[in-house]
Amino acid sequence: MKLAQLTNYLESLAPLAYQEDYDNSGLIVGRPDQEVNQALISLDCTEAVVDEAIATGCDVIISHHPIVFKGIKNFNSKTYVERVVEKAIRNNIALYAIHTNLDNVMTGVNARICETLGLVNFRVLAPKQGMLKKLVTYVPTAQADQVRNALFHAGAGHIGDYSECSFNAQGTGTFKAGEGSDPYVGEPGIRHHEDEVRIETVYPANLESKILMALVLAHPYEEVAYDLFNLTNQHQQVGSGMIGDLEIAVTEEEFLREVKQNMHAEVIRHTAFTGKQVRKVAVCGGSGGFLLKHAIAAGADIFVTADYKYHEFFDAEGKILIADIGHFESEQFTQQLLYELIQNKFVNFAIRLTKVNTNPVKYFI
Ligand SMILES: [Zn+2]
Repeated sequence: MKLAQLTNYLESLAPLAYQEDYDNSGLIVGRPDQEVNQALISLDCTEAVVDEAIATGCDVIISHHPIVFKGIKNFNSKTYVERVVEKAIRNNIALYAIHTNLDNVMTGVNARICETLGLVNFRVLAPKQGMLKKLVTYVPTAQADQVRNALFHAGAGHIGDYSECSFNAQGTGTFKAGEGSDPYVGEPGIRHHEDEVRIETVYPANLESKILMALVLAHPYEEVAYDLFNLTNQHQQVGSGMIGDLEIAVTEEEFLREVKQNMHAEVIRHTAFTGKQVRKVAVCGGSGGFLLKHAIAAGADIFVTADYKYHEFFDAEGKILIADIGHFESEQFTQQLLYELIQNKFVNFAIRLTKVNTNPVKYFI
């Protein structure tokens, strides 16, 4: 299939607009219209992974971490980043990254960690702001349903577990059609009064062009009147980290033993036990230190994450147990997650999980 079919699908699950500012998710090397026959999935895109793609005939590598984060000024094989990009281009292998946009969705990296730890009722720990907008439009009463349906179909009207949300108020619109117009109702040059419904509905900002196109197509007027508003509401389904519950509370020691086993962690660095039972668990794959305040505020008993520095452990202040299980360990099941997501959609497309352990951290035990 065309590479764009694969990447469009992945971006329908984890839109690029959901990635963090510093990130570089998306198509890094390759052309959207190139044919792809087999994908290789990895957490990191290292030289060994590119070599594996060449050896196994894969023409696209889908990794969680982008190989390129910042601008590169030279391509002369000095760094592993340059060498990976050069080798991929020479061998016609596309490189695609699905990073913080996959962290920030309900079916992404953190949901997989929650499932692996046996959590229930999990939700986003730090929902994002600035992701939602509101559309207000004015439609003749007879066409209100058709326009509402088109807007909902294009992705408007979702609030939490509810869909097709809108507010509707009846009123009267006026207009005078000008020269050269072809009004749906009324006569050019004469002010017309029309019974209209004011429809208000919320939508994710990244779907704006799709929603406006649906509005214009479904609306009977030549000129469609609408207003767009930025909202400061949080998007409850998009954001960093997750928090969930254990069905049965356990001691901190018991829970850490389970985390170690389920997350295949060789070692866990943690703060002093607080002596509380563990019931509420916050998680963040990769470097999650910035979420500690959210975890404490949400009443988490433990925060399972990675990349903690010495001084940051002090911030636990006896209120929470911080458990650093390692960056690779926290995100390793992302490979399996991507494999399943692609396989469910493209049943006949060949996918391969990397056999390279890309973890740059080794443990001397
Ligand atoms: Zn990571």
